[in-house]
Amino acid sequence: MQLLNIEMAQLLTPFAMSNNQVFDGESVTLLEMLHAREERQELQRNIFLKAPQGTLLSITMNIPGEIKNSKILKRVFECELNNLKSKFSKETILTRFVSNKAGNEAYILLSINPVLLKKRLIKYEEESQLGRLLDLDVHYKNKENIFQISRTEIGYPPRKCFLCDNIAKECGRSRSHSLDDIRLYISKKVLKYLEENSN
Ligand SMILES: [Zn+2]
Repeated sequence: MQLLNIEMAQLLTPFAMSNNQVFDGESVTLLEMLHAREERQELQRNIFLKAPQGTLLSITMNIPGEIKNSKILKRVFECELNNLKSKFSKETILTRFVSNKAGNEAYILLSINPVLLKKRLIKYEEESQLGRLLDLDVHYKNKENIFQISRTEIGYPPRKCFLCDNIAKECGRSRSHSLDDIRLYISKKVLKYLEENSN
């Protein structure tokens, strides 16, 4: 009976329906996430083999919780990937895109200075509609090691949480916000984005 009531409420509330669609995906376990992280690192190493002097842009979405992917999340990710591809088309050496239940991730290997790239990406994260949901990381290789450039090491403040003005990492670490609140925020952003960007 309880279940039926929840289902009814979801059918009757347009937003609840859409919220469910955004997170209508498979759950991922911690072990699978760790495995996905290893595969990601392996892929990064392989990409650098093609051009060790290149700068690697890695694109992921910041989706807390055990559901990291869905049709809708993939669609918005691909839109943003296309935006970034066209932004850096002149400097692109190669592109890779992986989508599975651990999430969406893309890599663009570029012939561009890493600090310059990071600055352009910070601007992008701050100005674009979905910017706060994107993680745009910059990697470069020095000898055998892969390094990542952080905002703070080039003089920018750390990223702010999308629900409050605190530092995002601190909110994540202390679990300041409920998963429901986070998903609600993401769903609203994503649905608005699709509404305005699909034609
Ligand atoms: Zn917060």
